[in-house]
Amino acid sequence: MPTSLHDLTFDELRELIVQDGLRPSHSATLWNALHFKADEDLNKRTDFLPPLRKWLEAKMKTDFHTDVLPIASEILSADDLTRKYLLKLQDRQEIETVVMGYTGRHTACISTQAGCAMGCVFCATGQMGFVRHLRPGEIVAQVHHARRILREKGERLRNLVLMGMGEPLHNYDNVMKALGIISDTRGANIGPSKISISTVGVVPGILRMAEEGSRYNLAVSLHGSTEAERAALIPANQRWPLSDLIAACRTYCEKTDRKIFFAWTLIAGVNDTAEHAQRVAALLQGIKAHVNLIPLNETAGYDGRESIETAGTVFHRIIQDAGIPCTVRQRRGIDVAAGCGQLKAERRKREKVTL
Ligand code: SF4
Repeated sequence: MPTSLHDLTFDELRELIVQDGLRPSHSATLWNALHFKADEDLNKRTDFLPPLRKWLEAKMKTDFHTDVLPIASEILSADDLTRKYLLKLQDRQEIETVVMGYTGRHTACISTQAGCAMGCVFCATGQMGFVRHLRPGEIVAQVHHARRILREKGERLRNLVLMGMGEPLHNYDNVMKALGIISDTRGANIGPSKISISTVGVVPGILRMAEEGSRYNLAVSLHGSTEAERAALIPANQRWPLSDLIAACRTYCEKTDRKIFFAWTLIAGVNDTAEHAQRVAALLQGIKAHVNLIPLNETAGYDGRESIETAGTVFHRIIQDAGIPCTVRQRRGIDVAAGCGQLKAERRKREKVTL
């Protein structure tokens, strides 16, 4: 199988080029085209010197390919601020990438797996099941896609959230390699402080981030305040219980001295009462935490409903009164099926209807 040039770090690319007898400066030129310019077609470059051009021509026939993901489907929100893309992978799998432009700071939400093994009951991706991990190049390619879209409008991608399809810490090595490439200052240059990794609570991954002194932001989806309540929403809780998760979060905060963002999806009558909020506040005592309350994105495969506004207001006040910063996440692009997996689920539904 040919290797993707987008799978390679700067050093790996340089090593390949140098071992074939080319000067190291050619690797910097190629890296610039791949990751700074985010070129879709390397054949159109006019600044490649003959040795690099010849090397590429030969290698692209047998050894290498690039990851440029064609658009299978695209939806624009009514407020013109959210664009959601279904991008096609080489094996015809489709993944979602979202570009959001609020308060002048553009954020891309990217996928790390095709499907997801975690099976969260309220999530359209979880309802589809797991297909495969994405390679680093397929993760990087989504970022470059978002950058090209924004560049056409004279805008720049500032932030990245790994909150699309898949559980990032279930694909740890590929995700971390991709983030290393994306944050490389010679390329896309999106710094670690602008990148957030969202996990449903893969404890070994959180502990590994703590050990490695990770500089990326960590967001943990909590959603349940007791073992049983959480397991009913997040089956992964059976493998990594809430008690282990909270212990891992404490370790992460101690080792990295970083804050953790805890996401709480408010579901009417399921986890949105004052008692739930009090238990959350107790669980998070002593952790450097920030709680994000998120209105539920209703999906066809789950009959839970969005909480009424007053429930969210009471929940918010209790968390704040406990000394834990708390915000209600702005709803973004709800009219384009905002939750991950929903665009793909919609497309599947349409395909079934037209068959
Ligand atoms: S919410 Fe995230 S971890 Fe859970 S099933 Fe969906 S994509 Fe996977």
